Amino acid sequence: MNCFDQVEFADRAGIERIQAIRLKNTIYQATASRFYRGKLARAGIKLSDIHSHEDIGKLPFTTKEDLRSSYPFGLLTMPVERMVRLHASSGTTGSATVIFHTPNDLNSWADLVARCMHMSGVRPEDVFQNMSGYGLFTGGLGIHYGAERLGCLTIPAGAGNSKRQIKMLKDFKVTVAHIIPSYALHLGSVFSSAGVDPQSLHLRIMLIGAEPHSAEVRRRIEQIYGVKAYNSYGLSEMNGPGVAFECREQSGMHLWEDAYIPEIVNPETLEPVPEGEVGELVLTTLCREGMPVIRYRTRDLTRFIPGECPCGRKHRRIDRITGRSDDMIVLKGVNIYPMQVEKILMSIPEVGQNYLIVLEREGYMDQMRVMVEIRDEYFVEDMRTLQALQRKITALLREEILITARVDLVEHDSLPKNEGKAVRVVDKRDH
Ligand code: ADP
Ligand code: ZN
Repeated sequence: MNCFDQVEFADRAGIERIQAIRLKNTIYQATASRFYRGKLARAGIKLSDIHSHEDIGKLPFTTKEDLRSSYPFGLLTMPVERMVRLHASSGTTGSATVIFHTPNDLNSWADLVARCMHMSGVRPEDVFQNMSGYGLFTGGLGIHYGAERLGCLTIPAGAGNSKRQIKMLKDFKVTVAHIIPSYALHLGSVFSSAGVDPQSLHLRIMLIGAEPHSAEVRRRIEQIYGVKAYNSYGLSEMNGPGVAFECREQSGMHLWEDAYIPEIVNPETLEPVPEGEVGELVLTTLCREGMPVIRYRTRDLTRFIPGECPCGRKHRRIDRITGRSDDMIVLKGVNIYPMQVEKILMSIPEVGQNYLIVLEREGYMDQMRVMVEIRDEYFVEDMRTLQALQRKITALLREEILITARVDLVEHDSLPKNEGKAVRVVDKRDH
């Protein structure tokens, strides 16, 4: 048993008891902010209305627009002098939102991240390299303090500079790394060009997250590095990493219900979806005093995995995020998620580690072009073999997305790369 076990292995009744107390606390705290005082009063909510976790349904939702319109200090429950850190979302879908933390908030966050890492098998003896960007992005400091809290020797490597990353992995005999999945794939190809075998390192665990990725990408990462890779989910509005994480079963991410109340709702009606169905994840913070957020619409699509996890933890599991509701591509009346395309591409052995979806308009017709990097060893094949491969990819994609995409085979390492989250879709249609 470690110090996190008590809550980590709490039974449902225990979790729900904690939720009831913390939800009440959170509402009390939230009314100290200008934003929630107004919002809760308009919704007619009084503290005496909150008795159990089920009362969450009475509360109003909070959206990204709410956070933007009360930028920067509108959600603070205490004077800004009491805050010690701020983080901002990476602004993938518009301008950034800013989240403030008190020392207590940072403390609970570090505990949560340490609990996640411990659950996936990381131990104080491990040497840990954090390869995500530091700065405003929460994958840097958020993971960093969790790893230190657990007791690992923690290397704040930051993003990019692949040669240096490889040198540190080797020199310091790194056993655990945190890395964005698209970068893990790219780094794999830097290893091969540097003539170093990634499997010759000491790495045994990789924590991958911060962007949607398919099961096929995880499999590739595990194969390249000879590691176990665990999915890590979080968002700045809910601190950042530490919200949900995979245990060693690798079958969904336990969402820490002593720290968040999760709901999955139909994004149109905002009603809960039936258990096990996909919908939008809505989260309420239970352990944040400086800037609590109630029923935040994450726009991330997932489902609760029914049943219990063999590991014995009773915190419910969410499935791999299929994408954000605003990621959805609508083309010729068909709805497509980039993850559907990725799943197909990454299951084809000739396909390399990167791809890009380009949406174009030709005349009045929308077209999808999928640019696919091909592994070096296949790119030298003759024209006929390449054309056959192109036809195979087109056909497999059509089966999945019901649309005939144009498939361009391009050379390994020729598509643009991002240091942070990968940009998978470029929309060139004028709206
Ligand atoms: P931004 O919303 O600007 O990208 P954040 O850095 O807060 O800023 O990113 C949080 C978002 O990243 C989540 O809402 C989700 O869409 C995505 N994300 C984070 N972790 C994962 C993961 N493990 N799988 C899929 N998507 C993820
Ligand atoms: Zn489990």
